[in-house]
Amino acid sequence: IPVRTPKPQWMRNRANMGSEYRQLKSLMRSLSLTTVCEEAGCPNIFECWSDGTATFMINGESCTRKCTFCLVDTSKPLPLDENEPYRVAEAVKRLGLDFAVVTAVARDDLGDGGAGAFAKTIDAIREYNPGVGVEVLIPDCKGDETSLRTIFEARPDVLNHNVETPLRLQRAVRPSASYARSLSVLARAREYDLLTKSGIMVGLGETMDEVKATLRDLREVGVSIVTIGQYLRPTKNHAPLIRYYTPSEFEELKGYGYGLGFSHVESSPMARSSYHAKRGASALV
Ligand code: SF4
Ligand code: SF4
Repeated sequence: IPVRTPKPQWMRNRANMGSEYRQLKSLMRSLSLTTVCEEAGCPNIFECWSDGTATFMINGESCTRKCTFCLVDTSKPLPLDENEPYRVAEAVKRLGLDFAVVTAVARDDLGDGGAGAFAKTIDAIREYNPGVGVEVLIPDCKGDETSLRTIFEARPDVLNHNVETPLRLQRAVRPSASYARSLSVLARAREYDLLTKSGIMVGLGETMDEVKATLRDLREVGVSIVTIGQYLRPTKNHAPLIRYYTPSEFEELKGYGYGLGFSHVESSPMARSSYHAKRGASALV
């Protein structure tokens, strides 16, 4: 059941199903690929796709977790598709991307949590597309050292893992994850000298001070890039939307983040984990 909470003016996006949008959609279908843009009902889909940017979602369409904000399907997952990494690499080539973002559902049913497929996808993208930057947005792989190392050793250009919400709301928002475990994933990625990124949604009932404390915690473990965006309740069965942050509050958080030393802070009502990802990564070079 779609939620019909009136949106403030600044949350309204124009739908623009231009030719780039249609081409991207048909390419994804012809290669049997899934995007988080579609699965998560991302509000930026027309803007990003018209710009030739999409986030690939690997390891199936069904997640083994049930985060209360997320629209991704949570039925029983299927076995992994061994050829998917090559089809993602092919799509990156056909789209002529110079920066690719890859994420996945959580696969707690697999011994490695889907880590091997992340590594293969990074390798395949690079093999087919020399010079292309790769960002991966990874699940926590239950904090398993070997699984995480598999991803870290594939050396993505950006290693993204979201904490999603401040410490106090973790249980309500991400019942199968933990704040400490997520911080530890990010800290361990820094031990491999990877560039790290994380993200927070606001509007789930946290206070401004809690968001700022989360930003400090992320800096503490060496995170360089952060995204802060407005939570939008996908359906009535999802976590309630407590309030809309104003554009000036997003600006305040951006200034606070830069003050803490982040190299890129993407803070705006429509910011999502992969929104302007290339911009975040290029801020460093
Ligand atoms: Fe896709 Fe990310 Fe853009 Fe949303 S912000 S449409 S998930 S690339
Ligand atoms: Fe959605 Fe990711 Fe949570 Fe799965 S782990 S329910 S895909 S946010």
